Amino acid sequence: MIPYGRQEITDQDIAAVLEVLKSDYLTQGPKVPEFERQVADHVGARHACAVNSATSALHIACVALGLGAGDWLWTSPLTFVASANCGLYCGAQVDFVDVDPKTYNLCPEALAKKLTKAKAEGRLPKVLVAVHLTGQPCDMAAIFELSRQYGFRVIEDASHAIGGKYQGAFIGSGRFSDITVFSFHPVKIVTTAEGGMALTNDDQLASRMMRLRSHGITRDPAEMTQEPDGPWYYQQVDLGFNYRMTELQAALGISQVGRLDQYVARRHELARQYDELLQELPVITPWQHPDSYSGFHLYVIRLRLDLITRSHREVFEALRDRGIGVNLHYIPVHTQPFYQAMGFERDDFPESMRYYGEAISLPLFPLLTDQQQVEVVAALKEALT
Ligand SMILES: *Cc1c(COP(=O)(O)O)cnc(C)c1O
Repeated sequence: MIPYGRQEITDQDIAAVLEVLKSDYLTQGPKVPEFERQVADHVGARHACAVNSATSALHIACVALGLGAGDWLWTSPLTFVASANCGLYCGAQVDFVDVDPKTYNLCPEALAKKLTKAKAEGRLPKVLVAVHLTGQPCDMAAIFELSRQYGFRVIEDASHAIGGKYQGAFIGSGRFSDITVFSFHPVKIVTTAEGGMALTNDDQLASRMMRLRSHGITRDPAEMTQEPDGPWYYQQVDLGFNYRMTELQAALGISQVGRLDQYVARRHELARQYDELLQELPVITPWQHPDSYSGFHLYVIRLRLDLITRSHREVFEALRDRGIGVNLHYIPVHTQPFYQAMGFERDDFPESMRYYGEAISLPLFPLLTDQQQVEVVAALKEALT
């Protein structure tokens, strides 16, 4: 089976992890801050807070922004459930904004329309989670403009997008958002096994997230309500969690991020080759906005069902039968039973549902060979007829 995504672990990665295992610190040592500095410097952010998953990063980002009961979080239906669940963790309510038919990202026009209506009804969102689906950045300039106009905060869920750029600046530099989140799950662009990171240029948000990932505890006298009782002293000033990343994970991350730009370049090369190989087939290849340099976590095609006799499901199954580990990103979140129970209807977000009826993620990862890519395309050609 050729998977849709997989990690590369080099001897250098293994050596980096072994070194930590033999060192004094397995957690709360020097590697996590080193990893945070490396990623922050690479993407051009002031602060980075490493945690045990992107899901945790989304959660503490929402808490740090003050999201709570009575508030609304909006996001795209075309994302992993975690982009929406982080709102529910905080006791907020969740709603969705339909996607743009070309980028499959949250549509700024649909957002503007929904905001006008929400304002009239007094239900404006407090937080918007802008998901860079497949690694292609959302229209952040338009989203930022609306956030100023309507007073909501913006989290970029860049789980697919580390190493990508928007208007020439690395995603994570935070020009158009409050906080950016990366995922280091093995199928993503660089990995720490499990792991995530929240980046921000805001000093206050950064220190709040640092506390929240470790029980809400501070050892900084400046953040305490009184002088320390002694050198042992710490204070719990927030209700936090244990979302810490281990030193082993950080060491792996440091080693991986050394190859980040190379990985994204190879993903682009493979994407260009797919574009060419698929030219004559009845599929829509990923459209790229000129402002964007995608991280290319995913290469998603859409079937031209009007031109073929096979159904979406038949093509998908035929590919799996031929050993191609295709996938579908994503089942629109509002159709999940947990969200249906909140009253969402399947056809509330028609553009997302159209996508769901046609989309297939083809294998894309740096170790995919040109030969394997040709095999994928041959299998697709057969599956379509
Ligand atoms: C993978 C992913 C997450 C969750 O990442 P974890 O690190 O597995 O918690 C969140 N949002 C999106 C868009 C993702 O792809």
